[in-house]
Amino acid sequence: MMEILSSKNCSSCLFFSPHIYYRNMGFCAKKRELVVNLDKGRSCPYYEEEEYENALSALREKGWVYCLSCGETITEENELFQHMKLKGHAIAGNIFIDDSILEESYSAD
Ligand SMILES: [Zn+2]
Repeated sequence: MMEILSSKNCSSCLFFSPHIYYRNMGFCAKKRELVVNLDKGRSCPYYEEEEYENALSALREKGWVYCLSCGETITEENELFQHMKLKGHAIAGNIFIDDSILEESYSAD
C-alpha cells in the first residue's frame, strides 16, 4: 500500500509547541502528549497549518513567537512577516518549556 508523503509535520502545525531545548521534541495540544522524532514526516489527522494570522495574533498577545527554521525568537511584526511569508519558515506560536512533562514521559526507569 502506497503511503502519501506529505510535507505536513508537527513543526508547522498550529497545535504543536516545540521544546525550547530539544528541537526534535515538543508537545501536541491536540493529542495532549509528547511528540518526538518530528522529522519522520508522518501525517497527522489533527494537523492544521499554522497561519500567518494566528502567529500574528500570538505575537501581539504575548509579544513574541518562535521561528523553528532559524531557532530565533521573533518580537517584531515585520520580522514575522519576513520569516513566515517571505522565507516560508515554520513559526511556532508557543514554545514548550515544561520539563516535568518530559520527566513523566520518561519515568519508565
Ligand atoms: Zn526564520
